Amino acid sequence: MREALARDGEQTCAQLNRDLDADVVIVGGGFTGLWTAYQLAEAAPNLGIVILEQDICGGGPSGRNGGFASGWWDELDGLIALYGEEGAVRSCRAIGASIDAIGEFCGRHHVDAWFRKSGYLFASTNPRHEAVCEEMVELARHVGADDELYRLTAGEVHARCDSPAFLSGAFMKDGASVQPAFLARGLRRALLERGVRIYEQTHVQRLDGPATAVTDNGNVRAKQAVLAVNAWATAWPRLRRRLVAWSSYIVLTAPAPELLAQLRWTGGELITDLRTSVRYFRTTHDGRIAFGGGGGRARTRIDHTFTHDARAVREAAEGFRRLFPSFADVPLVDGWGGPIDVSPTHLPTIGTLEEGTVHYAVGYTGNGVAPSHLAGRVLADLARGADTDEVRLPMVNPKPRLFPPQPFSSLGAAVIRRAIIAKDTAEERGVAPSRLASAVAGLPRRMGYLLGP
Ligand SMILES: Cc1cc2nc3c(=O)[nH]c(=O)nc-3n(C[C@H](O)[C@H](O)[C@H](O)COP(=O)(O)OP(=O)(O)OC[C@H]3O[C@@H](n4cnc5c(N)ncnc54)[C@H](O)[C@@H]3O)c2cc1C
Repeated sequence: MREALARDGEQTCAQLNRDLDADVVIVGGGFTGLWTAYQLAEAAPNLGIVILEQDICGGGPSGRNGGFASGWWDELDGLIALYGEEGAVRSCRAIGASIDAIGEFCGRHHVDAWFRKSGYLFASTNPRHEAVCEEMVELARHVGADDELYRLTAGEVHARCDSPAFLSGAFMKDGASVQPAFLARGLRRALLERGVRIYEQTHVQRLDGPATAVTDNGNVRAKQAVLAVNAWATAWPRLRRRLVAWSSYIVLTAPAPELLAQLRWTGGELITDLRTSVRYFRTTHDGRIAFGGGGGRARTRIDHTFTHDARAVREAAEGFRRLFPSFADVPLVDGWGGPIDVSPTHLPTIGTLEEGTVHYAVGYTGNGVAPSHLAGRVLADLARGADTDEVRLPMVNPKPRLFPPQPFSSLGAAVIRRAIIAKDTAEERGVAPSRLASAVAGLPRRMGYLLGP
């Protein structure tokens, strides 16, 4: 976001300071809110659309994520359990189309968000990952998507990125990288050009029926409302049990393009190791590695833990140093974090609340760059009352799956997450994880959630 503000200028939109009328009011100016507004403006150019954002647009995770716009073929396991094979494949194809549409948007609106579709590499770093990888590929084969996600030998993995930690792996074609803040700011610009009214530094306290957004200094009376608040949904009573807010952190190296060339990692692939407590890493336009994941914490409310957590930065850095020893002399020059909205199914849901005028998307579970584009399409159709293929996707208005009430879900999530990390770390070091760590890490699955090993 610092790069984006330096490039585009730091101008902010005014705060809301009076009452307004609108057709659709959108709470939250991240990717979900921005894509919803974009799709609405495309479909109905005369619609009165207002976005209310408590920070600046893209100031939340949308402007600070890893920039992985990745497909869902690796999620087939959960998707099939939830929606059956046909629904799962349809969902994966829809996300794939969204990845391409993000690239098309950038081209059409001259948004240089460094969009690059180079695919997604899954690299196993211990024998347990080999089995996980095999199962993932087998499921893709089973649904006839063996050209979408396929196995790579050790040699093929090392030809793409020569980390000594990598064994073999798999490759998913649906994967593109973006500079997320450039994309968020580009979307914001395209919306302002289309006459969408955006108010920043404007916190929405609540929605009064049927769709009036109440803020400190003015209300927006609308016919339809969209809640696009990501992990802040923990503050909205009707959504709060659909997620646990978790923090995710990234570290960034200084530029070292010559070392990337030595690693042969010049193809722009997104990479993840196959730990349950996922690590994800990518190169940047200017020859750096951005490396995410490792630790994080659960909290009932979004507070400074989500942005200023030295332990989480340290854990991300440790993972980076382990996987990329040839970068030992390259400094880590930045680190940052933000909240993610972990859902009971590891997948987002999109829908309409009972009264029929309030729509939402929540539960991206730290994987929202491409899905938020799809959510924007669905939310725009729901708000317009349009009957389209998108609103018939299986993740639209499914039976809600809920976590236990707070604070139990956050406390439980914190304990389980540390057990998962302990198990992952033991396996990485080639020692057997403790029975306690294994048992606690396996609790979510035993409780019926699609989370954990
Ligand atoms: C460190 C990190 C790395 C990540 N990496 C990736 C990745 O590589 N790939 C991937 O797919 N996903 C990644 N994610 C997740 C991804 O960023 C999100 O899923 C995605 O940005 C969700 O978009 P959103 O618009 O729903 O949420 P957000 O970007 O969080 O937008 C929600 C907005 O709502 C605003 N808001 C909240 N409450 C209110 C209120 N009451 N009034 C007004 N405004 C409000 C917030 O300020 C915020 O700007 C990452 C997340 C983090 C934190």
